[in-house]
Amino acid sequence: MSDAQKISFAEVILDSAIDRPLDYQVPDHLQGCVHIGSRVKVPLRRTYKAGTVFSLKETSAFSKVQTIIETLSEQPFISTELFQLARWMSRYYCAPLRKVLKSILPPSIRGKIKYKEQLLIESPLSQDLLAAECEALRQKNPGHASILDIVLKAPKGILLSELLEKADVSRSQIDTLIKKKLLCSRKVQIERSALSDEEYFPTKPKRLNEEQSQALALITDSLTVGRFEAHLLFGVTGSGKTEVYLQAINHALTLNKGVIFLVPEIALTSQTIERLRSRFKEKIAVLHHRLSEGERHDAWHQVHQGKAPIVIGARSAIFSPVPRLGLIIVDEEQESSYKQTEEPPSYHARDVAVMRGKLSSATVVLGSATPSFESYHNALTGKYKLSILKQRADHAQLPEIQIVDMQVEFQKAKAFTLFSEPLINEMKKRLEIGEQTILFLNRRGYHTSQMCPRCSHVIECPHCDVSLTFHLNENILACHLCDYRLSPPPRTCPNCKCDEGLKFKGAGTQMVERALHAILPEVRTLRLDADTTRHKGSHEMLFKQFRSGKADVLIGTQMIAKGLHFPSVTLVGVLNADGNLQIPDFRASEQVFQLITQVSGRSGRGALAGKVIIQTRMPDHPVMTLAADQNYETFFSQEIEIRKLFSYPPFSHLIKLIFSSAEELLSRTMAQRLRETLIGQAPPHCEILPVVPCGHAKVKRQHRFQFLIKAEKFAQLLQTIDSLRQDIFLQQKVRLLIDVDPLSTFF
Ligand code: ADP
Ligand code: ZN
Repeated sequence: MSDAQKISFAEVILDSAIDRPLDYQVPDHLQGCVHIGSRVKVPLRRTYKAGTVFSLKETSAFSKVQTIIETLSEQPFISTELFQLARWMSRYYCAPLRKVLKSILPPSIRGKIKYKEQLLIESPLSQDLLAAECEALRQKNPGHASILDIVLKAPKGILLSELLEKADVSRSQIDTLIKKKLLCSRKVQIERSALSDEEYFPTKPKRLNEEQSQALALITDSLTVGRFEAHLLFGVTGSGKTEVYLQAINHALTLNKGVIFLVPEIALTSQTIERLRSRFKEKIAVLHHRLSEGERHDAWHQVHQGKAPIVIGARSAIFSPVPRLGLIIVDEEQESSYKQTEEPPSYHARDVAVMRGKLSSATVVLGSATPSFESYHNALTGKYKLSILKQRADHAQLPEIQIVDMQVEFQKAKAFTLFSEPLINEMKKRLEIGEQTILFLNRRGYHTSQMCPRCSHVIECPHCDVSLTFHLNENILACHLCDYRLSPPPRTCPNCKCDEGLKFKGAGTQMVERALHAILPEVRTLRLDADTTRHKGSHEMLFKQFRSGKADVLIGTQMIAKGLHFPSVTLVGVLNADGNLQIPDFRASEQVFQLITQVSGRSGRGALAGKVIIQTRMPDHPVMTLAADQNYETFFSQEIEIRKLFSYPPFSHLIKLIFSSAEELLSRTMAQRLRETLIGQAPPHCEILPVVPCGHAKVKRQHRFQFLIKAEKFAQLLQTIDSLRQDIFLQQKVRLLIDVDPLSTFF
């Protein structure tokens, strides 16, 4: 007997239901076909389940073991290296391996899906009726309500496989809803050509300047040696980081190595994709969540088979099955969208990238104009290799930044005003000479709240503890956490019943647009926020319109802060730079600094000189003055002292435990109970902070409590939490979310 034939048992992690692996016998006819990482179909109770083989062994400790039915793939879908990564993630993020594998393998890959038979699930009811049914079910059958929640968010229908995945429920629950006539299903054909057949003009590598050449040399050295090394490419906006990435990719390809290129948000990255295509043409796969199942399936297999050695994508693209992986690039590594927060594992794609690089002996390049403190700290302490690009490439100059004191402006105007005099004057100048302006405000909608003038009651969402935002165009009040809508807005106060009319407060992007038209009637504007970009392709369309000069001013939320390159934009206005400084979080200053730098970076990227106006009520705040000077180093050295003093990251690790439940008391009690147990069991040198309500204390009717743990070393702590986690799941009514290295300690 050869070695392969001795394998009699496989430990299998099921896709659903059970967190620990189960033993199954490998039948004779499948000997040699079942590997670690293989997808298999196995019996469980009276049904069949799909799962992933976790390990192979000769004996089983159990006497009655069932047999594997069939393999679902010819080759293992998960390489040994990805499997190691999954196990590391499971430990580090304190998440069941089953959930980690779910993040790694897209649903279309996990099962044997025959595309022509895909079922589309929709509702025969109107949105309003369905929403009402959903609310009615919320208490009685939360599982059904959560299915309907997802269907409500997909007015054009959702594929069955996607729904099963998102709701984490069984097919029978959906069938029940179909029987109740709340849902219906039909067969659909899937459109699979993700890659548009657009033509790209081929571009040649640019001649690098001195700083770029040095950075590239460091990276290519690592690549050539083929040893794990992480680099931090710290370059001001427009310094030509992308050009360095492109040439590094080229070098990896000549060594016959694969590449993963991560970007914060794929919808905002059409320009980067274009630049990649124009250099490397057919060898690129784009992986992101807006793809249809079929598109994703095809792209994934192209990558798996080595047909597309370059993958570009958002967060989850870090799990792409790239053979011979040699280079991982994480652009804008400080971006919060790299962190998964809503479901386990709470992974950060940048940190996973570094770990994957280590496991694959690949070179990792993290790029940023405002590195996260963690990464810069790692670079200063020698863990990462640091390259700095101080100059803008292509002889463009960094923009001039002016701080405007809004208190003074309010006095001048004798009222609240959105636009300062200097900003209006600069915009007028741009209008006359045909240059463009970007206005940034971190709030969408028209007014941010509605208040009773007599009793000061603020109208809140019935399901969440936030005020409702007024949207003028639709004449509704909407919740930005759960999408609840109230139409039309009430005229009498629901609290004191007075009918003096409710007062609107605060300004969102819609109001900015209207107010601007009142001041400059001839101005042409475009607005870019979550409201104007609900549909696939809408970002690209808006960007195209702006770039081709169809508008003078682009107004937007943080979506416009990132990575965009519009050569005729010579003015950027930050309307309310203070907004996030008031959030009680140790990262608040860091985040405001990053945002100002990112937004400013959109100005003067072409041949024309740029200007930035920052409107603030705290003109002397160090964040404002240092951001205006673009002085990251000083800002970092001041802030890092505070972090050290209070032992915050990067000098410690934080773990946030969030408890949520429909019952407030239960949620709080479970949090307190787990905290007390932890205090008894936790290793020394960790600080367990008190239980507090989350910044958003209620979301979608769930009451949320949290506590933080601060620890210098945390491997042992994670184990303790992991075993406690298993117990708390006995209490079905409370959900526990473990956020390791949380980006926010408040919300
Ligand atoms: P970043 O990624 O750092 O924001 P980009 O790579 O987008 O910067 O570069 C900004 C602009 O400068 C782009 O138009 C790019 O084509 C150009 N550029 C980059 N490197 C060079 C170079 N070495 N010579 C000339 N132009 C360059
Ligand atoms: Zn809400």
